[in-house]
Amino acid sequence: MIFLDAAATTPVRREVLEAMWPFLTGDFGNPSSHHTLGESAATALADARSSVAGSLGCRPGEVIFTSGGTEADNLAVKGIALARQAADPSRNRVVISAVEHPAVEESARYLERFHGFTVDVVPVDGQGLVTPQALRSLLRPETALVSIMYANNEVGTLQSIADLAAAAAGLGIPFHTDAVQAAGWLPLDTAALGVDALSLSGHKLGAPKGCGVLYVKGRTRLEPLLHGGGQERGRRSGTENVAGAVGLAAALALAAASQREQAARVTALRDTFIRAVLAGVPNAVLTGHPEQRLPSVASFCFPGTSGESVLLELERQGVVCSSGSACAAGSDEPSAVLTAMGIPREVAQTAVRFSFSPTVTAGELDAAGRAVAAAVAGVRSLGAG
Ligand code: PLP
Repeated sequence: MIFLDAAATTPVRREVLEAMWPFLTGDFGNPSSHHTLGESAATALADARSSVAGSLGCRPGEVIFTSGGTEADNLAVKGIALARQAADPSRNRVVISAVEHPAVEESARYLERFHGFTVDVVPVDGQGLVTPQALRSLLRPETALVSIMYANNEVGTLQSIADLAAAAAGLGIPFHTDAVQAAGWLPLDTAALGVDALSLSGHKLGAPKGCGVLYVKGRTRLEPLLHGGGQERGRRSGTENVAGAVGLAAALALAAASQREQAARVTALRDTFIRAVLAGVPNAVLTGHPEQRLPSVASFCFPGTSGESVLLELERQGVVCSSGSACAAGSDEPSAVLTAMGIPREVAQTAVRFSFSPTVTAGELDAAGRAVAAAVAGVRSLGAG
């Protein structure tokens, strides 16, 4: 099987599992316990926090461990907006982009339904980009938070986060970015990005599912969503997933060590694959920005098919990919990301996303390129749509 669905999830790396193993077995203490087992777990957690802080160029106290990207996004959007509204009730608007992951979008909609917020949606252009001008035009004195993702999970377009964050910072508005897909491929230095909050998820970069991080800058006020024992300095109660935190820290450090070379290598393979698909499939359309995109994502529409039928045909040929984001899979609605980019609904329904792990090979992508041409031709010849 050729697995080209790494943006959905990745296997746990051996080094990561080895780092986690002691905390799943003999060294199983609760970091809040006042005995040696507990202290050992607390030390491991503190080390993981320092290591993540090193990867993000921030202080350990600014790192909150969560149960994944979804929780990190919820905590950022709801936690920062609600804290600002509590301090100043006139702060009752949030700005998100039109291509956010549902974890951000639905968090903003929750604020609208239950807390009297208005959600301002900043549009994207045909390649999925938000411009600083478009963002600026929506910023108001009442804006409590801006949340714009670093890298899009469906088409791979990268936002110019530093410029967008600077536009918000100029007006004293906190800026959150969902960096779940960027992690492992792009620099995550929070100071250089100029962000106040940033979300990560372990399972996209070789750590297990169910662990994530929210970076929250210094004095940014944050209303917790989970109440209980006051772990994570009162910002996220619940017994910490020590092994998950250790694994996520190890995965981030491993990715950072080889990031540049991996990104350059996979970008070159991606571009060869894109050329092969565009040459081999008549009327194929590359979606997203042609250059400002994740090294690991190549996404297309194949008019005259349905994404789902191409997907099934590809799987029959041994290539596994996705017809949209995994989270939206199973729904018949065309992708909101693609329609926000101005792609007509009937074309958006033909979308297929290929996403690569750092270990993808030229041989795999070569074979996949041929399989795509054959699969699309097969589906079209059946008039299957
Ligand atoms: N944000 C983005 C951009 C994602 O791609 C995903 C997962 O697909 C998430 C958030 C959610 O992360 P998790 O699966 O860890 O909850």
